[in-house]
Amino acid sequence: MLASCSPQTQSDQADGGEGAGSTGQPEHDAIVRTVCAPNCVGSCGINAYIKDDTIVKVEPADFPNEAYHRICLRGISNAMQRVYSPDRVKYPMRRVGERGSGEWEQISWDEAIDLIHENMQKNIDEYGPESNAFISMTGNYGVYSQVMSGLLAATYDGTQLTNFGIMGDNACNMGFLPILGVQQDASCWEDMMGSKTAILFGCNYAETNMQEMHFLFDAQEAGMTLVVVDPRFSRTAAKADWWIPIRPGTDAALVLGMMNHIVSIEAVDEAYIRTYTNGAFLVDTSTGALVRIDGDYAVWDEVEGVAVKVAAVPDDMKPAYPSVTVSGELPENTQVPESAALYGEFTVDADGGSVTAKPAFQLLVESLDEYTPEAASEICEVPAEDIIRLAEMYVNDTPARLHVSQGTNRYWNGHLPTRALCQLAAITGNIGKQHANINWAGGTLMRFLFSLGPSSLSPREGHGASALPGSQWYDLVAAQQPHPIKFLWTQNYGWGTQGPDRNKLINEVLPQLDFVVVSEQMMTPGAELADLVLPITSYYEEDFQVVPAWSSMYIQVRDRAISPQWEAKTDYEIAQMLAERFGILEETEWRLDAKEYARIHLFEENLAPEFSTMDFDELCEKKVLAANFSDNYVAFESMRFATPSGKIELYTESLVEFGEQLACFYEPLESNRKEKADTYPLTFMNCRTVYTTHSQHAPLAWIREVAPEPWLEISPEDAQERGIETGDVVEVLNDRGSYKVKALVTSEIKPGCVNQRQGWWPKDFVEGTHYSSLLHMELNPAQDAISETNYSPYDNLVEVRLA
Ligand code: SF4
Repeated sequence: MLASCSPQTQSDQADGGEGAGSTGQPEHDAIVRTVCAPNCVGSCGINAYIKDDTIVKVEPADFPNEAYHRICLRGISNAMQRVYSPDRVKYPMRRVGERGSGEWEQISWDEAIDLIHENMQKNIDEYGPESNAFISMTGNYGVYSQVMSGLLAATYDGTQLTNFGIMGDNACNMGFLPILGVQQDASCWEDMMGSKTAILFGCNYAETNMQEMHFLFDAQEAGMTLVVVDPRFSRTAAKADWWIPIRPGTDAALVLGMMNHIVSIEAVDEAYIRTYTNGAFLVDTSTGALVRIDGDYAVWDEVEGVAVKVAAVPDDMKPAYPSVTVSGELPENTQVPESAALYGEFTVDADGGSVTAKPAFQLLVESLDEYTPEAASEICEVPAEDIIRLAEMYVNDTPARLHVSQGTNRYWNGHLPTRALCQLAAITGNIGKQHANINWAGGTLMRFLFSLGPSSLSPREGHGASALPGSQWYDLVAAQQPHPIKFLWTQNYGWGTQGPDRNKLINEVLPQLDFVVVSEQMMTPGAELADLVLPITSYYEEDFQVVPAWSSMYIQVRDRAISPQWEAKTDYEIAQMLAERFGILEETEWRLDAKEYARIHLFEENLAPEFSTMDFDELCEKKVLAANFSDNYVAFESMRFATPSGKIELYTESLVEFGEQLACFYEPLESNRKEKADTYPLTFMNCRTVYTTHSQHAPLAWIREVAPEPWLEISPEDAQERGIETGDVVEVLNDRGSYKVKALVTSEIKPGCVNQRQGWWPKDFVEGTHYSSLLHMELNPAQDAISETNYSPYDNLVEVRLA
């Protein structure tokens, strides 16, 4: 039994007792503060009213900052309907028919654990421990749920499949990483109040972050102009002051066009570029490498007429993500002189001999030559005068903030718009600035997960996981390379609908796996393809969980509100049972209960002081506590960067071989201007909706009342050309597959594009088909060089015809 973290039953003194009577509240025995946390990024605090061990009502829980006091229909439906759904996986279920046949038998937990043990041990003996693979996704923002694949793989020397790339969230990260040294960061939402301009690229917050929309509305009421760049007239675009429809996957061209104009009107911040970026660093024009003198970088001193050395910021003076803490005054030799040239060409005596060199900023300016507003307009189909107007708004109506998110993320070239936006913010002096900045993701979630060091993620001393890129898991399993993978265990992962190329998955990948285990609450399309399905607890049944947020700087803990339904267990409990079956429980950290593990390994050993200095007992008592970041957190405020130079790297020499040393534009892989468009002319998007977080809420009755069935959005022009009217069943197809769905003809989408609102299961579509069969998983070499290719589900061409 957990002591200080046991369910905190609020007495009913405040509302006058148990009866519905005077308070209007339903009869209840207790109110338990817990957390709703699917991958909507909200992590809303929830008060669950409990009567006879049953949830009778949920409402928003108090937050230290009342701005985070919120709830939504998805969260309410989750608590009241998903928890009690007759479709819950109630018991461990073993497949008895063909895979996918739907024939199951109920077995005991002992039998289930025996099966897992038997299969893992067989693989360890025959193929080696790395043939057992694990992947966890984001269906539950609880830390244990998200890192369970790593913990299990580490315990049994197995393979952890990373999840960032295959979930489609990695392209923006790779736009950030080369230039800013971190995968993501954003100022807190409160920082929006005070902005004069906000430009959103690929951000449909009104649907996908609706819990944060009040921050935008408040800022608009205070005078902020909201601009939304999106091929769709999204709900967010409908609330904007200016909607800019753009050709899908061409945001980088628009941003580079803005930069071209900003340079031409001399609206760049040269002092900022010189001080905080590597814009003054000299580049060898023959190789693209940064010039080195005695191993240091070099800049051209215009007063002295010579090249002078600039040292990299020492590693121990850079913030070590996930921490933002920095130490010490920067040494003099890391400072760029005020007289350093940003323009020109020079002959320099460098290491290795005399070279012709230019400042990186000069090369950046030259790279913009091909992106005049007119040229950019030709690419992105935004009028040149609008590009100019947007550029001037950005530099004149300040402070001006930039936001980027999943819309731009999910193209094969999706790292480039983010990189271009970082450059735009940098050359105008906006990074690290209050009410401005470049904003992508943020909050505590990724910081917390990345701050878990080896000791936190190694429950068994002397053992560890090997990692393989999840974005390649289809190919790696299909080819059984670089080693056999025979066993796969997934947690919190709707891979049956949320991944690419369903036909390849079923025909080439799954046949290579001897045993597939899925931990799930519902018999999802992925679970249907498993050999063993384990019933997993809902948020309300977990006994202890730590829940960070992607949208705030808080950490919460989740306590058990109701008993586990049927025979559901937590990920943590299942891991303990397996350790016991392997006979290693007492020699591993799995012997600790979830709370003690958290105290020691998630907090005390946390690599980031912002988390390790939190008072764990106070957190357990209050259930919500701000992590130790500054109030009204402004990203990059320290102006220290974990890049090789320690500065904002406008120029990235490690990407010269890909021609991406500076942000640039290239067409999406399946652009509607490529040859393939002759056969499949429409860009296929599959946007998230307000109704469901991915596939999680789609089946729930209250959600079905407002979103009863899927439809394909198609413009009147494209519909007319194909003889399609609203309500017609259409076939959407390409060379990978097809599916059937009803059409919705709407002018909310730009001609040349179609959109399938996502989250639906195969049984929701005509004839049980599914759009994931259309989607590719092509690797991008530059993205792989930075970290890992991103799944790009919007970068797919299709044709649509009457079925
Ligand atoms: S689904 Fe998201 S926004 Fe809705 S209540 Fe849950 S955490 Fe909050």
